[in-house]
Amino acid sequence: MAEGLLTGKTGAILGVANDHSIAWACARACANAGAQLVFNYLGDPLEKRVKKLLSKHMPDAPAYPCDVSKDEDITQFFENVRNHFDRLDFVIHSLAYADREDLHRDFLGTQRANFAMALDISVYSLVAVAREAAPMMTQGGSIVTMTYFGAEKVVPNYNVMGVAKAALEASARYLASDLGPSGIRVNCISAGPVRTLSASAIAGARAIGKYVEAVSPLGRNIDAAEIGATALYLVSDWASGMTGEVLHVDAGCNIMGMGLAGVE
Ligand code: NAD
Repeated sequence: MAEGLLTGKTGAILGVANDHSIAWACARACANAGAQLVFNYLGDPLEKRVKKLLSKHMPDAPAYPCDVSKDEDITQFFENVRNHFDRLDFVIHSLAYADREDLHRDFLGTQRANFAMALDISVYSLVAVAREAAPMMTQGGSIVTMTYFGAEKVVPNYNVMGVAKAALEASARYLASDLGPSGIRVNCISAGPVRTLSASAIAGARAIGKYVEAVSPLGRNIDAAEIGATALYLVSDWASGMTGEVLHVDAGCNIMGMGLAGVE
Protein backbone atom coordinates (compact mmCIF):
# COMPACT_ATOMS: atom_id res chain seq x y z
CA MET A 1 0.00 0.00 0.00
CA ALA A 2 2.83 2.39 0.90
CA GLU A 3 5.07 1.08 -1.88
CA GLY A 4 7.08 3.93 -3.39
CA LEU A 5 5.98 6.43 -0.72
CA LEU A 6 9.62 7.09 0.23
CA THR A 7 11.25 6.47 -3.15
CA GLY A 8 14.17 8.87 -3.53
CA LYS A 9 14.24 9.63 0.20
CA THR A 10 17.13 8.95 2.55
CA GLY A 11 16.99 8.28 6.26
CA ALA A 12 19.21 7.57 9.26
CA ILE A 13 17.94 4.96 11.71
CA LEU A 14 19.39 5.16 15.23
CA GLY A 15 18.70 2.40 17.73
CA VAL A 16 18.71 -1.05 16.15
CA ALA A 17 20.03 -3.63 18.61
CA ASN A 18 18.33 -6.68 17.11
CA ASP A 19 15.30 -7.69 15.06
CA HIS A 20 12.98 -7.01 18.02
CA SER A 21 14.04 -3.36 18.20
CA ILE A 22 11.38 -0.77 17.44
CA ALA A 23 13.99 0.94 15.24
CA TRP A 24 14.15 -2.22 13.13
CA ALA A 25 10.37 -2.25 12.65
CA CYS A 26 10.61 1.40 11.53
CA ALA A 27 13.49 0.58 9.20
CA ARG A 28 11.57 -2.30 7.60
CA ALA A 29 8.55 -0.07 6.96
CA CYS A 30 10.68 2.73 5.47
CA ALA A 31 12.80 0.40 3.34
CA ASN A 32 9.67 -1.33 2.00
CA ALA A 33 8.39 2.11 1.02
CA GLY A 34 11.56 2.71 -1.02
CA ALA A 35 13.82 4.71 1.32
CA GLN A 36 17.60 4.35 1.34
CA LEU A 37 18.83 3.94 4.89
CA VAL A 38 21.93 4.24 7.03
CA PHE A 39 22.16 2.74 10.51
CA ASN A 40 24.14 3.18 13.69
CA TYR A 41 25.16 0.56 16.23
CA LEU A 42 26.37 0.87 19.78
CA GLY A 43 29.86 -0.54 20.23
CA ASP A 44 31.52 -3.80 19.24
CA PRO A 45 29.03 -6.25 20.76
CA LEU A 46 26.21 -4.90 18.58
CA GLU A 47 28.26 -4.35 15.42
CA LYS A 48 28.17 -8.00 14.40
CA ARG A 49 24.49 -8.41 15.20
CA VAL A 50 23.37 -5.29 13.34
CA LYS A 51 25.58 -5.96 10.32
CA LYS A 52 24.33 -9.56 10.15
CA LEU A 53 20.73 -8.36 10.19
CA LEU A 54 21.48 -5.85 7.44
CA SER A 55 23.36 -8.30 5.25
CA LYS A 56 20.30 -10.57 5.35
CA HIS A 57 17.57 -7.98 4.82
CA MET A 58 19.12 -4.74 3.52
CA PRO A 59 22.51 -5.59 2.03
CA ASP A 60 23.03 -2.11 0.58
CA ALA A 61 22.50 -0.27 3.84
CA PRO A 62 25.67 0.78 5.69
CA ALA A 63 26.06 0.87 9.48
CA TYR A 64 28.47 2.97 11.51
CA PRO A 65 29.29 3.14 15.20
CA CYS A 66 27.68 5.88 17.24
CA ASP A 67 27.48 6.10 21.01
CA VAL A 68 25.21 9.11 21.47
CA SER A 69 26.77 9.92 24.84
CA LYS A 70 29.84 11.08 22.88
CA ASP A 71 29.70 14.27 20.80
CA GLU A 72 32.58 13.10 18.62
CA ASP A 73 30.71 9.90 17.75
CA ILE A 74 27.62 11.84 16.66
CA THR A 75 29.72 14.20 14.53
CA GLN A 76 31.61 11.29 12.94
CA PHE A 77 28.39 9.37 12.31
CA PHE A 78 26.90 12.26 10.32
CA GLU A 79 30.21 12.71 8.51
CA ASN A 80 29.77 9.09 7.40
CA VAL A 81 26.16 9.77 6.42
CA ARG A 82 27.35 12.74 4.30
CA ASN A 83 29.74 10.40 2.48
CA HIS A 84 26.72 8.30 1.44
CA PHE A 85 23.99 10.81 0.81
CA ASP A 86 24.03 14.40 -0.48
CA ARG A 87 20.86 15.06 1.40
CA LEU A 88 19.04 13.55 4.39
CA ASP A 89 15.24 13.46 4.54
CA PHE A 90 14.58 11.85 7.88
CA VAL A 91 16.02 10.55 11.13
CA ILE A 92 14.42 7.98 13.40
CA HIS A 93 15.79 8.32 16.93
CA SER A 94 14.74 5.15 18.75
CA LEU A 95 17.08 4.76 21.71
CA ALA A 96 17.19 5.29 25.44
CA TYR A 97 19.13 4.12 28.45
CA ALA A 98 18.77 4.04 32.22
CA ASP A 99 20.56 2.01 34.84
CA ARG A 100 18.60 -1.21 35.38
CA GLU A 101 18.63 -0.61 39.16
CA ASP A 102 16.63 2.57 38.68
CA LEU A 103 13.85 0.64 36.95
CA HIS A 104 13.52 -1.75 39.90
CA ARG A 105 13.12 0.50 42.94
CA ASP A 106 11.46 3.73 44.07
CA PHE A 107 12.10 6.85 41.99
CA LEU A 108 13.08 8.52 45.26
CA GLY A 109 16.30 6.49 45.28
CA THR A 110 17.56 7.81 41.91
CA GLN A 111 21.09 9.12 42.28
CA ARG A 112 22.45 12.26 40.59
CA ALA A 113 24.85 10.47 38.24
CA ASN A 114 22.23 7.97 37.03
CA PHE A 115 19.64 10.71 36.58
CA ALA A 116 22.11 12.72 34.47
CA MET A 117 23.10 9.66 32.42
CA ALA A 118 19.50 8.69 31.63
CA LEU A 119 18.64 12.19 30.47
CA ASP A 120 21.91 12.59 28.58
CA ILE A 121 21.51 9.42 26.51
CA SER A 122 17.73 9.38 26.19
CA VAL A 123 17.01 13.09 25.71
CA TYR A 124 20.03 15.28 25.01
CA SER A 125 20.98 12.90 22.20
CA LEU A 126 17.89 14.01 20.28
CA VAL A 127 19.08 17.63 20.41
CA ALA A 128 22.63 16.75 19.37
CA VAL A 129 21.42 14.46 16.57
CA ALA A 130 18.96 17.07 15.28
CA ARG A 131 21.71 19.70 15.22
CA GLU A 132 23.95 17.49 13.06
CA ALA A 133 21.14 16.24 10.82
CA ALA A 134 19.41 19.57 10.13
CA PRO A 135 22.06 21.05 7.79
CA MET A 136 21.72 17.92 5.61
CA MET A 137 17.93 18.32 5.39
CA THR A 138 18.16 20.80 2.56
CA GLN A 139 14.69 20.04 1.21
CA GLY A 140 13.04 19.93 4.63
CA GLY A 141 12.93 16.81 6.74
CA SER A 142 11.34 14.79 9.48
CA ILE A 143 12.72 13.65 12.82
CA VAL A 144 10.85 11.03 14.83
CA THR A 145 11.60 9.89 18.38
CA MET A 146 10.07 7.21 20.63
CA THR A 147 8.38 8.03 23.90
CA TYR A 148 6.06 6.29 26.36
CA PHE A 149 2.96 7.07 28.44
CA GLY A 150 5.19 7.08 31.56
CA ALA A 151 6.03 10.68 30.49
CA GLU A 152 2.45 11.75 31.23
CA LYS A 153 1.41 9.67 34.24
CA VAL A 154 3.14 7.51 36.82
CA VAL A 155 3.80 3.98 35.60
CA PRO A 156 5.22 1.61 38.24
CA ASN A 157 9.01 1.17 37.95
CA TYR A 158 9.36 3.44 34.90
CA ASN A 159 10.81 6.09 37.24
CA VAL A 160 13.70 8.13 35.81
CA MET A 161 12.78 6.96 32.31
CA GLY A 162 9.35 8.58 32.73
CA VAL A 163 11.05 11.85 33.65
CA ALA A 164 13.38 11.45 30.67
CA LYS A 165 10.44 10.83 28.31
CA ALA A 166 8.66 13.96 29.60
CA ALA A 167 11.83 15.93 28.82
CA LEU A 168 12.09 14.18 25.44
CA GLU A 169 8.56 15.22 24.48
CA ALA A 170 9.24 18.82 25.55
CA SER A 171 12.55 18.78 23.65
CA ALA A 172 10.75 17.59 20.52
CA ARG A 173 8.40 20.58 20.79
CA TYR A 174 11.26 23.08 21.20
CA LEU A 175 13.15 21.48 18.31
CA ALA A 176 9.99 21.58 16.19
CA SER A 177 9.77 25.31 16.87
CA ASP A 178 13.44 25.95 16.02
CA LEU A 179 13.48 23.79 12.91
CA GLY A 180 10.01 24.55 11.54
CA PRO A 181 11.24 27.54 9.50
CA SER A 182 13.63 25.15 7.70
CA GLY A 183 10.74 22.82 6.86
CA ILE A 184 11.96 20.22 9.34
CA ARG A 185 9.28 18.49 11.42
CA VAL A 186 9.89 16.81 14.78
CA ASN A 187 7.36 14.37 16.21
CA CYS A 188 7.12 11.69 18.90
CA ILE A 189 5.50 8.28 18.81
CA SER A 190 4.21 7.19 22.21
CA ALA A 191 4.39 3.44 21.85
CA GLY A 192 2.58 0.86 23.89
CA PRO A 193 4.71 -1.87 25.48
CA VAL A 194 6.66 -4.07 23.04
CA ARG A 195 8.94 -6.92 24.12
CA THR A 196 12.45 -5.65 23.39
CA LEU A 197 15.83 -5.76 25.08
CA SER A 198 15.25 -2.36 26.71
CA ALA A 199 11.71 -3.20 27.84
CA SER A 200 12.98 -6.32 29.61
CA ALA A 201 15.02 -4.08 31.94
CA ILE A 202 11.84 -2.65 33.48
CA ALA A 203 10.52 -4.53 36.50
CA GLY A 204 6.99 -5.80 35.93
CA ALA A 205 7.08 -5.32 32.13
CA ARG A 206 4.96 -8.46 31.69
CA ALA A 207 2.27 -7.12 34.05
CA ILE A 208 2.15 -3.86 32.07
CA GLY A 209 1.49 -5.88 28.90
CA LYS A 210 -1.34 -7.74 30.64
CA TYR A 211 -2.79 -4.45 31.89
CA VAL A 212 -2.87 -3.05 28.32
CA GLU A 213 -4.65 -6.16 27.12
CA ALA A 214 -7.24 -5.83 29.86
CA VAL A 215 -7.81 -2.08 29.77
CA SER A 216 -7.12 -0.73 26.26
CA PRO A 217 -10.08 -0.13 23.94
CA LEU A 218 -8.59 -2.52 21.36
CA GLY A 219 -8.12 -5.17 24.04
CA ARG A 220 -4.65 -6.15 22.95
CA ASN A 221 -1.03 -5.11 22.87
CA ILE A 222 0.42 -3.50 19.76
CA ASP A 223 2.87 -5.01 17.35
CA ALA A 224 6.19 -3.28 16.59
CA ALA A 225 5.14 -3.20 12.92
CA GLU A 226 2.31 -0.84 13.91
CA ILE A 227 4.89 1.59 15.27
CA GLY A 228 6.88 1.14 12.06
CA ALA A 229 3.81 2.05 10.00
CA THR A 230 3.28 5.21 12.07
CA ALA A 231 6.94 6.16 11.72
CA LEU A 232 6.60 5.69 7.96
CA TYR A 233 3.60 8.02 7.96
CA LEU A 234 5.46 10.65 10.01
CA VAL A 235 8.54 10.69 7.78
CA SER A 236 6.45 10.76 4.60
CA ASP A 237 4.85 13.78 2.96
CA TRP A 238 1.48 12.50 4.17
CA ALA A 239 2.34 14.07 7.55
CA SER A 240 3.63 17.33 5.99
CA GLY A 241 1.36 19.48 8.16
CA MET A 242 2.29 17.89 11.49
CA THR A 243 5.07 18.87 13.86
CA GLY A 244 5.67 18.90 17.61
CA GLU A 245 3.06 16.18 18.11
CA VAL A 246 2.93 13.04 20.23
CA LEU A 247 1.09 10.24 18.46
CA HIS A 248 -0.02 7.36 20.68
CA VAL A 249 0.29 3.90 19.16
CA ASP A 250 -0.91 1.99 22.20
CA ALA A 251 -4.23 0.33 21.31
CA GLY A 252 -5.84 3.42 22.89
CA CYS A 253 -4.64 2.61 26.42
CA ASN A 254 -3.77 6.25 27.21
CA ILE A 255 -7.34 7.49 26.82
CA MET A 256 -8.65 5.34 29.68
CA GLY A 257 -9.04 7.40 32.84
CA MET A 258 -9.80 4.31 34.89
CA GLY A 259 -9.32 0.65 34.16
CA LEU A 260 -11.05 -1.71 36.53
CA ALA A 261 -9.28 -4.84 35.33
CA GLY A 262 -8.32 -6.96 38.28
CA VAL A 263 -10.24 -4.76 40.75
CA GLU A 264 -13.83 -5.98 40.29
P1 NAD B 1 16.02 -1.80 22.10
O1 NAD B 1 16.79 -2.30 23.27
O2 NAD B 1 15.81 -2.70 20.98
O3 NAD B 1 16.62 -0.44 21.56
C1 NAD B 1 17.25 0.50 22.39
C2 NAD B 1 18.46 1.00 21.62
O4 NAD B 1 19.10 2.06 22.36
C3 NAD B 1 19.52 -0.09 21.40
O5 NAD B 1 19.78 -0.24 20.03
C4 NAD B 1 20.74 0.47 22.10
O6 NAD B 1 21.94 0.14 21.45
C5 NAD B 1 20.46 1.97 22.03
N1 NAD B 1 21.30 2.75 22.93
C6 NAD B 1 21.33 2.72 24.29
N2 NAD B 1 22.31 3.54 24.72
C7 NAD B 1 22.88 4.10 23.63
C8 NAD B 1 23.95 5.00 23.41
N3 NAD B 1 24.66 5.53 24.43
N4 NAD B 1 24.28 5.35 22.14
C9 NAD B 1 23.61 4.82 21.10
N5 NAD B 1 22.59 3.96 21.23
C10 NAD B 1 22.23 3.61 22.48
O7 NAD B 1 14.61 -1.33 22.74
P2 NAD B 1 13.36 -0.58 22.10
O8 NAD B 1 12.23 -0.93 22.98
O9 NAD B 1 13.29 -0.81 20.65
O10 NAD B 1 13.69 0.96 22.40
C11 NAD B 1 13.66 1.96 21.39
C12 NAD B 1 13.00 3.22 21.91
O11 NAD B 1 11.60 2.97 22.09
C13 NAD B 1 13.50 3.72 23.26
O12 NAD B 1 13.52 5.13 23.25
C14 NAD B 1 12.44 3.23 24.21
O13 NAD B 1 12.38 3.99 25.40
C15 NAD B 1 11.22 3.46 23.35
N6 NAD B 1 10.00 2.78 23.78
C16 NAD B 1 9.99 1.43 23.95
C17 NAD B 1 8.82 0.81 24.34
C18 NAD B 1 8.79 -0.69 24.57
O14 NAD B 1 7.85 -1.17 25.22
N7 NAD B 1 9.72 -1.44 24.04
C19 NAD B 1 7.66 1.55 24.57
C20 NAD B 1 7.70 2.93 24.37
C21 NAD B 1 8.87 3.54 23.97
